[in-house]
Amino acid sequence: MLSTMQDVPLTIARIMRHGTTVHGASQVVTWTGAEPRRASYAEVGRRAAQLAHALRGLGITGDQRVATFLWNNQEHLECYLAVPSMGAVLHTLNLRLPGDQLIYIANHADDKVLVVDGSLVPLFAPALPALKTIEHVVVTGDVDLSPLDGDHGKTIHRYEDLLAGQPTEFDWDEEIDERTAAAMCYTSGTTGNPKGVAYSHRSTYLHSMQICMVEGFGLGSGDLVLPVVPMFHVNAWGLPYAAMLSGASILMPDRFLQAEPLAEMIVAEKPTMAAAVPTIWTALLNHLDETHQDVSSLREVIVGGSACPPALMEAFEERHGLRIIHAWGMTETSPLGTVARAPAGVTGEAEMPYRVTQGRLPASVQGRLVGPDGSLMPHDGKSVGELEVRGPWIAGGYISGETGSDSVEGDRFHDGWLRTGDVGTLSADGYLTLTDRSKDVIKSGGEWISSVDLENHLMAHPDVAEAAVVGVPDDKWGERPLATVVLRAGAETGLEELKEFMAGRVARWQVPERWSLVESVPKTSVGKFDKKVIRRQYGDDELD
Ligand code: ADP
Repeated sequence: MLSTMQDVPLTIARIMRHGTTVHGASQVVTWTGAEPRRASYAEVGRRAAQLAHALRGLGITGDQRVATFLWNNQEHLECYLAVPSMGAVLHTLNLRLPGDQLIYIANHADDKVLVVDGSLVPLFAPALPALKTIEHVVVTGDVDLSPLDGDHGKTIHRYEDLLAGQPTEFDWDEEIDERTAAAMCYTSGTTGNPKGVAYSHRSTYLHSMQICMVEGFGLGSGDLVLPVVPMFHVNAWGLPYAAMLSGASILMPDRFLQAEPLAEMIVAEKPTMAAAVPTIWTALLNHLDETHQDVSSLREVIVGGSACPPALMEAFEERHGLRIIHAWGMTETSPLGTVARAPAGVTGEAEMPYRVTQGRLPASVQGRLVGPDGSLMPHDGKSVGELEVRGPWIAGGYISGETGSDSVEGDRFHDGWLRTGDVGTLSADGYLTLTDRSKDVIKSGGEWISSVDLENHLMAHPDVAEAAVVGVPDDKWGERPLATVVLRAGAETGLEELKEFMAGRVARWQVPERWSLVESVPKTSVGKFDKKVIRRQYGDDELD
């Protein structure tokens, strides 16, 4: 028997209609370093309509790709709304990628129009001639366009000129097939060529609802959310669409992502929640420890993208009253996978063992663990295996049917499940604890050492600002851990003391013999420890 319910497609145009009308008074505030720019959601909706008309004029009449090369700001939000809602596909380019990867991704995605941040024109200009499929480049802001001069065959436009005079209403496609692509994102390509995922309208809608749920990020119309995580890093973890869906206002940091301006904007605008990778929060903690600025407007901050050191959580909570919520996800999971909230009734100290896990699976993300021999492992909180997931916002393949088989994990998709490449345990009540990425686990003399575990212990030392651990080849043991450590300014701790400290916390055989004291840990384009670079740069250093 078929249901008697209406078959209404779950589309981004519906999210936008709701956000720009019912919550038309909600705000998007863009930090500028001087007076912030402010616009209501209603205004953003009108400008999104103007943008859609302008894009039609540039030949975007079907599901062509419109790429963005933008910081987190109002114009980026306008693209997020207009492009999918007119039936085209939004492609957010990672503006920190090296030129060759950027060119590969834009060509592979078949991008037709590219919206570029005015402040990034000099950075972007050298790549322009190699972008084969792009026909139009639209530049935001009132900047010098001369770096884009040349014989590259593309037409250059100014964003505001294109919008000016266009109608402020558009016939948005709310009835578009919900399974069609709305937005696409490429993994940062730490192994092999970057691989692209296309999110559907339906997956985005459902994912946005999960973010608003109390067990997700609990986003509501009373919130002012600060997505520090870039809008090119898995759609800023879904926050812009979730904000439109819930009516939460947004504080956009634009290019001001250093600790000092972040603290300043938090104090001035009083966001209630924020989200970013651990390295951003580590830098902010160091800054706040000096300035003691009041960040208590933040009811909680989401930390994910790589493991959040428990010491970071504790330090923020004790010294700044700021509550960190740990979450796990990946490009292929939209990204929301798990969020670490303690079960009902568990409070105070007792919450911590739950909050330091990667989090609990929601109803729409089913997980299982697969052992080295391919057998399923029990969800007992002890048995370790590779995590596989499936659900309505989990990728079932890569763009162009690539399997990802050039990655070390082999074919990522099998049997309707996504192999995450993450290794850990699941408990009976759905908590995921990751020990490592399969490619980062240190295999020493037939035993496994978790690089993340060693990092967490190291970062619990009061003199350690940051620490990353990688496995490096060793004649006797196969691999041994190498620790790269950034000491806090003025710290006098020596390596012998750090080794002793570690010996008191982990088994002696796990304590690294190889150490490098460094100025800063190399980071990837999305701010994670870049273990590939660390292996290459410091693998030969032996300081003991
Ligand atoms: P990339 O693989 O290029 O870094 P993603 O942003 O998709 O791009 O990264 C996803 C990966 O990041 C996950 O597979 C996992 O290894 C890691 N990750 C994300 N969140 C966490 C977390 N909370 N704890 C540990 N690892 C995490």
